Amino acid sequence: MNAPNAAAAVPASEGLYARRRKIYVRSVGGFFAQWRWTLVWISQAIFYGLCWLPWNGRQAVLFDLVQRKFYLFGLVLWPQDVFYLAVLLIISAYALFLFTAIGGRLFCGYACPQTVYTEIFMWLEEKIEGERNARMKFDKAPLDAPKLGIKATKHAAWIAVALWTGFTFAGYFTPIRAQVSEFLEWRLGGWQTFWIFFYAFFTYLMAGFMREQVCKYMCPYARFQGVMFDPDTLIVTYDAARGEPRGPRSKNGDHAGKGDCIDCGLCVQVCPTGIDIRNGLQYECIGCSACVDVCDGVMDKTGLPRGLVRYSTENAMAKGWGSKEIMGHLVRPRILIYTGVLLTICSATALGIAMRTPLKVDIIRDRGVMAREVEDGLIENVFTLRLMNTDEKPHVYRLGIAGLDGIRFAGTPEVEVAAASTKSMVIPVRVPPEAARQGSHPVFIDIAAAEDASIKLKEKAVFVMP
Ligand code: SF4
Ligand code: SF4
Repeated sequence: MNAPNAAAAVPASEGLYARRRKIYVRSVGGFFAQWRWTLVWISQAIFYGLCWLPWNGRQAVLFDLVQRKFYLFGLVLWPQDVFYLAVLLIISAYALFLFTAIGGRLFCGYACPQTVYTEIFMWLEEKIEGERNARMKFDKAPLDAPKLGIKATKHAAWIAVALWTGFTFAGYFTPIRAQVSEFLEWRLGGWQTFWIFFYAFFTYLMAGFMREQVCKYMCPYARFQGVMFDPDTLIVTYDAARGEPRGPRSKNGDHAGKGDCIDCGLCVQVCPTGIDIRNGLQYECIGCSACVDVCDGVMDKTGLPRGLVRYSTENAMAKGWGSKEIMGHLVRPRILIYTGVLLTICSATALGIAMRTPLKVDIIRDRGVMAREVEDGLIENVFTLRLMNTDEKPHVYRLGIAGLDGIRFAGTPEVEVAAASTKSMVIPVRVPPEAARQGSHPVFIDIAAAEDASIKLKEKAVFVMP
């Protein structure tokens, strides 16, 4: 009855570069499988759909590398806003710490793109080649025309998904509607073509062939996850005290002297990394809970209580805690610290974005033009002003200057800047000679949108008196 996955049978004597044994994963249904598929649907609906969403006459989410602008719904981020990218990375890291401390590798098991795409590719494989046993038999069968046809169909389906994924990925960096027209007219740019095929190739490779190898050998997170666990972290656990000694039931149902594990091997067969959860916590376990679902099904059939494999904690297993005590220990100092830091960073970022002035200004004093005397004996410095209108609307900005008696612009102190655009202008600034002594003097340039009093900035510059 025991039919472990092929990977579980890898002899320990094989070298460091032992040949990979293909894992034939059995499909599974149940509470956690439903959650996993729900997250697959949600994440893929967002990934494949968001790039088609229009917003203010453009793509809602677009990372326009050519124009060096990132559009996120109503927000336009410029290279100067790289700070927000850093904040996003910090938030992601803290969220990962928090969720890992609470529920182990929740990200790996439910939301990691490697898990999600492997799940999709395995689903296609099962629909085309059949369930686990049929696939094992099919792979052993000699290669003939029907087998070649079925294999070709599977790879064609995988390649179609991979190409669409690559096309969608590239569509976040160039407007996807324009990309479709360019593709249909066979005039996609070199870089676009490269990224579409590059991303598609790696999706096909990672989800179709590498699968658990990525989690086991390539992903650094698997290696350092242990430091984020503590004895109160929820992890998928086999209840050895209840399950052992394992063994099949006799025909008359007698299981005297035996534990609840009937050694059916199904928990190994559904494991995408091919491990046996009964051997305890292993770094290969991605926390997908497939073994929980399948074992609950086995328990239902044998008339035993569910939960032989379940989410539990090290402390709960050692001290025999029930769910009430486990939940009571979920809120602990490190969880409170992670939550507090995460909420503080999120609130500060949201506040910062809400109060952000959609205007940026660079002022550079023209070092090529020295301070000089012009008509009427006035002293002139020349500045280059670079205005970045980060708003989705055009604005007319009025300029003012203060800091020295009689200081003024020579020329019109008004400039119009188109939506999400930059405009540079050279502005001569003049002062009467008696306004200041020789040397450098701080002056202040005010920039305010004519039709929106809330959009204004005051920038400091230096005026040099000869
Ligand atoms: S733990 Fe559950 S699924 Fe795994 S072998 Fe035992 S009874 Fe079967
Ligand atoms: S041991 Fe269970 S939870 Fe861990 S990866 Fe395998 S099936 Fe998923």
